[in-house]
Amino acid sequence: MKEHKNFDKNKFIKKNKYKIVVYSLVVVAVVILGITLVKRNFTNNDIQSASNSSYENVDKNNGKKDDNIKPNEAGDIMVVMYHSINQKSNHYQWHRSKSEFLADLEYMYKHDYVLISMKEYLSNDIDIPRGKTPILLTFDDGLKSTFAIIKNKMGRYVLNPDSLVGILEEFKREHPDFGSGGVLYVTSNPFKNDAFHNTKTEGSYYDKFKYLDSLGYEIGNHTYHHYDLATLSSSSIKEEAGKVNEMVSDSYNGYQVKYFAYPYGNIPSDEKIKVIKKGKYKDILYKHESAVLAGPRSPYFTNPITKDFNAYKIPRTIASSGANQDMYWYFKYYEKHKSERYVSDGDRTKLSISAKMKNEINKKKTEGFNVEYVE
Ligand SMILES: [Zn+2]
Repeated sequence: MKEHKNFDKNKFIKKNKYKIVVYSLVVVAVVILGITLVKRNFTNNDIQSASNSSYENVDKNNGKKDDNIKPNEAGDIMVVMYHSINQKSNHYQWHRSKSEFLADLEYMYKHDYVLISMKEYLSNDIDIPRGKTPILLTFDDGLKSTFAIIKNKMGRYVLNPDSLVGILEEFKREHPDFGSGGVLYVTSNPFKNDAFHNTKTEGSYYDKFKYLDSLGYEIGNHTYHHYDLATLSSSSIKEEAGKVNEMVSDSYNGYQVKYFAYPYGNIPSDEKIKVIKKGKYKDILYKHESAVLAGPRSPYFTNPITKDFNAYKIPRTIASSGANQDMYWYFKYYEKHKSERYVSDGDRTKLSISAKMKNEINKKKTEGFNVEYVE
């Protein structure tokens, strides 16, 4: 009996070999799909509740939320200027020690700031949770303590955790809702030298630019020799700007630098700024969509959709504390004057703008958005 049964079973398996294989594969696929969906649901819910605790307060009747958040997406956005690491206790104000940098990030995170890119800043196409304020970090001079990669045991490039970008990426890993983005403005020899901190670095320009790009950072132009542009002729400015564009493009798949930072924050005449906006060097076209200053200047922080915004004179604040109009000065200012800062409505397609600002808006910049003026 037993043998007979076994015989039948083997025969059945033989006869239906292909069917069994196909059925088994289908069952395995369905199980995997099910697990993936359940897992994804959990992750989505986790992210949603972590980043937007007011989600459940939506009043379904009119879409308004009773969370006491007053969105204003024409409010001020801070642009911060960093350089590199200096561990001396009494260092220049334009550098940060590692612990100071980490404390800066913690302050921003705790006070509802979320990182964005220059692209997002200029377009106001900012996808951050309701109630959050965007902030744009920039890093000048292309020093190796700002960004460095090293080979790990497997021979793969990884971030040097000792660099500013290494510290920032570790912080982002621990705080996944902190956003991402930032501009690194380079000169000749990007990320090769550093007078203030001896950070270990490896890899070619290609490896470095590719790494930064893959992390969502933007590579900007800080001129080739870091001369004071206010003292240069138009053709020299063209060369200073074009050479950086050429170097980055040649070393990294034709990458075009789109954003400019004036060395020392010194701006040339408006006539010469035209050469920075666009030009041709060695038959290669370059074009910059924005240019940043080295400090705050009237009209101070604003928003790219307001009429007083000038994309080629974007003020920045120095990442330090204790000085007039430095980063912590502005942090305190915006805690006191919360209505002046950008506060997101959490809806990417809609711009919720304070009704008080109606006459200050550059209507061209709000095209493509659903604009709502709110009280
Ligand atoms: Zn500089």
